[in-house]
Amino acid sequence: MNAITTPDNVVVVGNGQAGIQLVDSLRKEGYTGAITLIGEETHHPYQRPPLSKDYLAAGKDPVPLPLRPEKFFTTHDVDARLGVRVTSIDRTARTATLDDGTTLAYSTLVLATGAANRELAVPGADLAGIHGLRTLTDAQALHARLDTVRSVVVIGAGFIGLEFAAAARARGLDVTVLEYADRPMGRALTPVMSGFFADAHGRLGVTLRLGEGIASFDGDNGHVTAAVSTTGHRYPTDLVLVGVGVTPRTELAAAAGLDVDNGIVVDGSLRTSDPNIYALGDCASFPNTHAGTRTRLESVQNATDQARHAAAAILASRPGKEPGSGTGVESGSMPGSEPAGGTGAELGGYADLPWFWSNQGPLRLQIAGLVAPGDQTVLRGNPAEEKFSVFCFRNGTLTAVESVNQPADHMAARRLLAAGLPLTPEQAADPDFDLKAYSKQQPATV
Ligand SMILES: Cc1cc2nc3c(=O)[nH]c(=O)nc-3n(C[C@H](O)[C@H](O)[C@H](O)COP(=O)(O)OP(=O)(O)OC[C@H]3O[C@@H](n4cnc5c(N)ncnc54)[C@H](O)[C@@H]3O)c2cc1C
Repeated sequence: MNAITTPDNVVVVGNGQAGIQLVDSLRKEGYTGAITLIGEETHHPYQRPPLSKDYLAAGKDPVPLPLRPEKFFTTHDVDARLGVRVTSIDRTARTATLDDGTTLAYSTLVLATGAANRELAVPGADLAGIHGLRTLTDAQALHARLDTVRSVVVIGAGFIGLEFAAAARARGLDVTVLEYADRPMGRALTPVMSGFFADAHGRLGVTLRLGEGIASFDGDNGHVTAAVSTTGHRYPTDLVLVGVGVTPRTELAAAAGLDVDNGIVVDGSLRTSDPNIYALGDCASFPNTHAGTRTRLESVQNATDQARHAAAAILASRPGKEPGSGTGVESGSMPGSEPAGGTGAELGGYADLPWFWSNQGPLRLQIAGLVAPGDQTVLRGNPAEEKFSVFCFRNGTLTAVESVNQPADHMAARRLLAAGLPLTPEQAADPDFDLKAYSKQQPATV
C-alpha cells in the first residue's frame, strides 16, 4: 500500500470539465499544496460537446479537442493518474482507495465524477448496434459505424439525441427519432422553441415521432434490426442511439455516507455534508438561486463556474492560509459571489448565471437563464429566417432567453440577467430597441 501523508493536499476524483477547471483555478489562485487528479478514462481530458456535433461530421478526422494542452499536468504540477478509478473513501482516515490498490491521504477531497448515461430496460436493449454517447470511446464507436449504415433510430429527442440526428442526416442517413413526450427538448425549452425545432428537424429530413416511446428492439444474430415503439410501430434500423438522459455518478459519495438526493448534496460553497469534501459539475445537487430550488445542471458553464467557485472556497477555508494570494482573477469574475476571503461560509453562495448551447444542423441554439413552465414568452426576430429569440418573463421579470442563430441577443441576455437589469416585454419585442447598447449600460459580468 502506497500512502501519501502530505498535510495540505487536494485529491480530485474525475478528470472531466469540472475536475480540470478546479485544478487550473486552484493553481491560478496561488494554491501551492500537492494536487492529485484521478480519472478512470484513459484519454487525456477532452471536451464532450463536439462528440455529438463536429466529431461526427462526414469526412472529418475524428480528433478529440483537449480540455487543456498535453503539458498542462507538468506545468501545473499535478499528479495525474489516468485510467484509474477511485473505489472507496474513508472519511475518518481521510483516504481514498484506487482500483490499483493505492491509498491516497487527502486534506480536501473533490468529487467531480460527472454523470452516466441512463440505460433502457426494454427487451433487446443489450443487442449489438445500440449505442450511448457520453465518452470519446462511445463517439469513436459511432463514428466508425456511421460509414457503414443506412438508417438510424434515435431514442429520445433531447439535446444529444437531436444533435446526433442532425449529424446523421448531414451524412445522408435515414433518421427516425422516437420521443415519448409531446415535444422535443421539453424539459429545457419553451413550447414555442420546441415547436420550432420539431419543424426544423422535419426540414432537415428527420422523421420525428412524438408521443412514441421505445417498447423493444428486434435483432438478428445478436445485432439490432428494428426498434418497436410503444404504439406498436416497427422501425427497421442498422443502428440505434439512445439519448434518454443521464444519472449523476453518486456511488462513491453514497457509499461514504454523504448526503445524496438526485446528486451529491452540496451547499452554496459546493461543500458536501462532510466539510472536507466538495462536489461539483454534473454530479452535484446545489441550491440554485435561479431555479429557486435545489437542482443539478448538466452543462459546461455549470461545471466550469462551479469549479472556479469551489477553488476559491477551498482556499478560503484553509486554516491560517491567505486566500486568493494568486491572481484573484478567477474569483473576482464570478457574478453573484464575493472574491475569496474569510472562511468558505462567508463566501457568497454559488449563483452564476446558467447558460447553455446546442448545435443542430444549421441551427445554433443558445439559452441564458433557466426556462420554467408557464413563463410568458415574447418573440424577437423571425423564426422563418431561422434567426430569432424567445424572451421569457415571470411576473414581469426577465428570467431566460432562448436564441437561434442570434449570438448578439444571447450575449445581451447574459449581461441583462447577470446584472438584473430590468427589461419589459415591450422592449424585448421591439426590433428598434437597441438591446445590445441597453445591456451594456451595466458592467459586463459574463
Ligand atoms: C455528447 C455530449 C455533448 C454535450 N454537449 C454540450 C453542449 O453543447 N453544451 C454544454 O453546455 N454541455 C454539453 N454537454 C454536457 C457537458 O459536457 C457536461 O455537463 C460536462 O462535461 C460535465 O462535466 P463534469 O466534469 O461534471 O463531468 P464529466 O465531464 O462527465 O467528467 C467526469 C469524469 O469523472 C470520471 N469518474 C467518475 N467516477 C470516477 C471514479 N470513481 N474514479 C475516477 N474517475 C471517475 C468519469 O469517467 C469522467 O471522465 C455535453 C455532454 C455530452 C456527453
